[in-house]
Amino acid sequence: MIIVMKVGASAEAIEAAAAVIRARGVEALVLPGEDRVAIGVPASLSVDQKTDLEAALSAMPQVSKVTQTSRPYKLASREFHPDNTFVEVRGVTIGPGHFTVMGGPCSVESYEGFRQAADAVKASGATILRGGAFKPRTSPYAFQGLHLEGLRILKSVGEETGLATITEVMSPDMVGAVAEHVDILQIGARSMQNYPLLIEAGRSGKPVFLKRGPAAPVDEFLLAAEYVLSQGNPHVVLCERGVVPLDRSYVRNTLDLAVVPVLKEHTHLPVIVDPSHGTGVARYVLPMAKAAMVAGADGIMVEMHPDPAHALSDGSQALLPEAFAEMMDELRRLAPYVGVKM
Ligand code: PEP
Ligand code: MN
Repeated sequence: MIIVMKVGASAEAIEAAAAVIRARGVEALVLPGEDRVAIGVPASLSVDQKTDLEAALSAMPQVSKVTQTSRPYKLASREFHPDNTFVEVRGVTIGPGHFTVMGGPCSVESYEGFRQAADAVKASGATILRGGAFKPRTSPYAFQGLHLEGLRILKSVGEETGLATITEVMSPDMVGAVAEHVDILQIGARSMQNYPLLIEAGRSGKPVFLKRGPAAPVDEFLLAAEYVLSQGNPHVVLCERGVVPLDRSYVRNTLDLAVVPVLKEHTHLPVIVDPSHGTGVARYVLPMAKAAMVAGADGIMVEMHPDPAHALSDGSQALLPEAFAEMMDELRRLAPYVGVKM
């Protein structure tokens, strides 16, 4: 941790800041600069100690800035856990060396439509079936999902096809019901900082697929993962799904593919890319799916619908089953060059 004093800070103020540090039983290294003084804290402190010390120092009027030099997450960090994490679900491995494709409609709308989408997912060679039963919609008047009926459809179609299933859970009280019906719990972008939900999902012991909030910095994303991990649940998969765009008239979100190598460096958790929400436009999904593979992602989640024009949510970004199958073919051709199995 580095504490930068204000220009012209008095000797008393510098000593007072150093004393606050030393009172925690750690060394304070006073570093005089050209126009201001910095104080270094070389000792490694726990997350709680750092937060507490940062708050105490930030409150001092002659302190200009307190900077943490090490990352605030621990269980998610590669520094403390160098080996890659692999998440296994129904015989599917999610993690480095495997490119896992999750496909299916944005929402589960009916048994027939969902079964049709699932058959197309299976025939294409993708291994995980997605579909929302609880939909976080911007408008309360938009289709909200089939709720429990959607969960029942997910369970039946998962069993009938043998595909692993994933669906979003929006509230802590629904974690139990959702966990009984599907293999993977999805925490949506809007819920990334719903801490009671993260804790409950962590306690369920089920694999948790955590989507990055549209304006979440990497530290906040990994601290959200830390909430799940700290419940003793190591089965966490991260998902980049696009961040707030500069120009919404072209894309729904800006797919931040650069975050893939950043995450790979700083965390051992698998990283999936969602080019559907990441662009919002069906014809941009294929190029970004290929780019995700090249960037080092461990897989993708892609929305597909048998009849996108009549989809009850996100039709504009949904691939037709044929386009989904073509995407799978192209990815399979690319995989050997990137060194991943499909
Ligand atoms: C979804 O996967 O359908 C979804 C709502 O995604 P996100 O949380 O990324 O917006
Ligand atoms: Mn969607």
